[in-house]
Amino acid sequence: MTVDGQPVDAARPYLFNDRNLNHYRRALVDGIDRVASRVGRTERPFSGVSPAPLAHEISAVDLDRPLHDTAAALDELEEVYLRDAVYFHHPRYLAHLNCPVVIPALLGEAVLSAVNSSLDTWDQSAGATLIERRLIDWTAGRLGLGPYADGVFTSGGTQSNLQALLLAREETPACGRAVVITSAAGHFSVRKAAKLLGLGPDAVIEVATDADRRMRPDALARDLDRCRREDRPVMAVVATAGTTDFGSIDPLPEIADLCAQDGVWLHVDAAYGCGLLASPTRRHLLDGIERADSVTVDFHKSFFQPVSSSAVLVRDGAVLRHATYHADYLNPAGQRTPNQVDKSLQTTRRFDALKLWLTLRIMGPDAVGELFDRVVDLAADAWALLAADPRFEVVTKSQLSTVVFRYLPKNIGLADEANLYAREALAASGEALVAGTRVDGRHYLKLTLLNPETTPDDIAHVLGLLAGHAERYVDARIPAHAR
Ligand SMILES: *Cc1c(COP(=O)(O)O)cnc(C)c1O
Repeated sequence: MTVDGQPVDAARPYLFNDRNLNHYRRALVDGIDRVASRVGRTERPFSGVSPAPLAHEISAVDLDRPLHDTAAALDELEEVYLRDAVYFHHPRYLAHLNCPVVIPALLGEAVLSAVNSSLDTWDQSAGATLIERRLIDWTAGRLGLGPYADGVFTSGGTQSNLQALLLAREETPACGRAVVITSAAGHFSVRKAAKLLGLGPDAVIEVATDADRRMRPDALARDLDRCRREDRPVMAVVATAGTTDFGSIDPLPEIADLCAQDGVWLHVDAAYGCGLLASPTRRHLLDGIERADSVTVDFHKSFFQPVSSSAVLVRDGAVLRHATYHADYLNPAGQRTPNQVDKSLQTTRRFDALKLWLTLRIMGPDAVGELFDRVVDLAADAWALLAADPRFEVVTKSQLSTVVFRYLPKNIGLADEANLYAREALAASGEALVAGTRVDGRHYLKLTLLNPETTPDDIAHVLGLLAGHAERYVDARIPAHAR
């Protein structure tokens, strides 16, 4: 086998090593070219494909018959994946918390997977461990967690929340019937974590929120009181800095005061809102976060990083010992090298931190924060557009970059169906993607804006499409004489 006329190791051409560097360069550049040409031709965020035909094509691939050819495999990949993928770089992808990614991070991804360091122990990573630690220190510094802070990169906010609650539980005396308090707008991963930790089905208490979907400190105080009277230890209050649906930031200073009074662990889930840490203009929205015992940050949401890139931070690094186990072959007790496995729920672990490192070293934090600022501004524009449009009703004004709204049909009884239909019809057209959610039992639509390239015109265009779909649905159900 030759690549560009250069020989590769005939016996083992696929192994990444010094003899196959031409193959390595060529294969990656080919792959990058395919992605680039696909992105260059992408006019819509989605093809609108439905699962059945795609499943048919994918099951027709015979995995026991290799193609032995990179170009042929990439041709096939075009059909089974690239052609119909959902493209987050597209300005009319407005659905979930998926960001367009920055190029320095893509470079990091290519480097980290080739070198393939594993961040469990020093002897599998060397400098990678130290780079991760620097980034944890940098993040803790931006959070203001103080001199003893520490943390570790994780696979995502779900794992970060789980680990934080594990630590909180271990720090809670007599945690038999322990409860976790979060707001009704908190993330479902808090419930999942409670279940994984073996807490009972009634272990998560939902505090009421105000009209802006922020946790109400007076309601929290009452819930804390009630738990005290019922002799149920509160192992953590989980405040959310950027709720997934409403972009609301719980009142952190007031919540921190209540937690301090009762000696309760405060976890702040900033999976979404962490982008404010880099914002040149809006960092103050996170004021109070410096009083948290633990914090979740998802760089793969508001730092424009590819999945996965997340971390859990703690005020007192010593608590991470609750995640420490010793294996003779890996990190024997008493060893003096820095072993991140001592702080992590994972063992073998990707060097995801490299993506953030290159992002900060090439772009710098202000440039990242400006991207996030831009989408927060855009959400305010989108809210204003909707508030002025009689076809729609818009819910609370987000502090971040979501907008929750619904189409209001002439026959209000059809509102739920019409909004569900409009969202699906829009997705099937591939013209744009928006999300759906429920507010007080009713179906709403949601824009999650994370693309600084999206313009108010894009949003106006998508609202027109949604209204058109919803109107057609309603018209087909109201007899002509009653319209
Ligand atoms: C997305 C999100 C999570 C979960 O994070 P993953 O990275 O998807 O696991 C947790 N909390 C909030 C507030 C989120 O928005």
